[in-house]
Amino acid sequence: MQLSASLARDGLRRLGRAVVDGVLPPRCLACGDIVGEPHALCGRCWAAMTFFAPPWCVLCGLPFPHPVADDAVCGACAIARPHWDRARAVLRYDKHSRRLVLSLKHGDQTHLAHAFGRWMRRAGHEVLDSADLLVPVPLHWTRLFSRRFNQAALLAQAIHAAGGPPVAADWLVRRRKTPSQGHLGPLARQRNVAAAFAVRPGRELRGRRVVLVDDVMTTGATAAECARVLRRAGAGFVGVLTLARALRTGAQ
Ligand SMILES: [Zn+2]
Ligand SMILES: [Zn+2]
Repeated sequence: MQLSASLARDGLRRLGRAVVDGVLPPRCLACGDIVGEPHALCGRCWAAMTFFAPPWCVLCGLPFPHPVADDAVCGACAIARPHWDRARAVLRYDKHSRRLVLSLKHGDQTHLAHAFGRWMRRAGHEVLDSADLLVPVPLHWTRLFSRRFNQAALLAQAIHAAGGPPVAADWLVRRRKTPSQGHLGPLARQRNVAAAFAVRPGRELRGRRVVLVDDVMTTGATAAECARVLRRAGAGFVGVLTLARALRTGAQ
């Protein structure tokens, strides 16, 4: 009797899953093609993305084309040491990963953030493992109002859900609205973000190990300015973790 009841339950569960799968088959995060499991890329999109992997610059994670010592530093970091201690990203920012970044802003955010959070947790283990807090790059409140959510905060929550440190959601604030940076060069971006960020009064950062989280790092001006502010407030370590990162050289 009990056995047949449990068989019936199993049957119902299978049927339930088939119905759910039938209604909502899992789709590729980038192109929307049907895939075998949820929160995944199809084979074609997976092959098109450039996932960063060692050997890389110990500071900024820039991949090297050949094997190097574990503590090797790239030319850019050797010339001008960044304000942050270590930066890591999951994907190269190019025309393929741009689709993922844009769909996080406009698509099914919860579904995407879940997948990206797991990727970022894995790719960022060197900066996350000893971190106390995740600090998302803030939006100005007027932009937050029009967009309704901050994608950096969403990613930080997803990294935490994947086993990362807790999120200090409002510790860093954007004091003034900065014009969109899309069309600006590196120097203009630096000027654009100067004095744009501050640590919220009363938040104690002294000696804390924090990881700044954002969706994309392009010139690094925003991350550099946020890191400077966090460090001035006493942070003992500032890491940077982004979903995608643009490389200065090479075709996209
Ligand atoms: Zn695809
Ligand atoms: Zn570097």
